[in-house]
Amino acid sequence: MIFGSAIILSGPSGVGKSTLISRVRQELPELEFSVSCTTRSPRPGETNHVHYHFLSDEEFSLRLEKGKFIEHAGVFARRYGTLRQEVMDRVSAGRDVVLDIDVQGAMQIREAARKDPQLAAVAEFVFVAPPSLEELERRLRGRGTESEEQIRLRLGLARQELSFWRHYDYLLINHDVANTAVELLGLIRGFRLKSSRQPEELFS
Ligand code: 5GP
Repeated sequence: MIFGSAIILSGPSGVGKSTLISRVRQELPELEFSVSCTTRSPRPGETNHVHYHFLSDEEFSLRLEKGKFIEHAGVFARRYGTLRQEVMDRVSAGRDVVLDIDVQGAMQIREAARKDPQLAAVAEFVFVAPPSLEELERRLRGRGTESEEQIRLRLGLARQELSFWRHYDYLLINHDVANTAVELLGLIRGFRLKSSRQPEELFS
């Protein structure tokens, strides 16, 4: 049995994670996306169950009580969480899945992996950093989806998040999305070649 990879991609809001993921998925259509749950409202262009499972606070709490989340975190006064099923069903079936989650969530998965050898074998931690904080601010403003208050909040958090990059196995500096997408693609292809991912019975 060959397991897929769970690619845990973190980095400050506005760094370009979503664009990066769509670019890579154009090249690797079989790469699946872990649709997170959130209590925030959809932005224009976002579709329920495609970009997020948009939940009320009560619905989120119910899933939390039932132990459905592999990780969950409060980000920008909203709740976000990854359903265990979104990840483990896919990797067990040999499919690769990418998670766009914040550092709190990624660190929870790191911790969980210490006690869960299957999770440890499939989880790959990748941090995406901006070339500088000034460039991040420019991109956040350019996106035009957040209020001034939200932009300040996100920039403040970005500083804290950036300090976590050493806790990840790989660092991508997103100078240019096309190049960074090629780097990420290379990593994902490399993960598939890991000897630990190959079937035990090979050559026996
Ligand atoms: P946004 O609201 O801009 O879509 O996402 C805000 C932040 O929440 C991003 O840094 C994103 O990576 C993070 N995020 C999205 N889904 C999850 C999740 O399921 N768990 C955690 N911990 N963070 C998430």
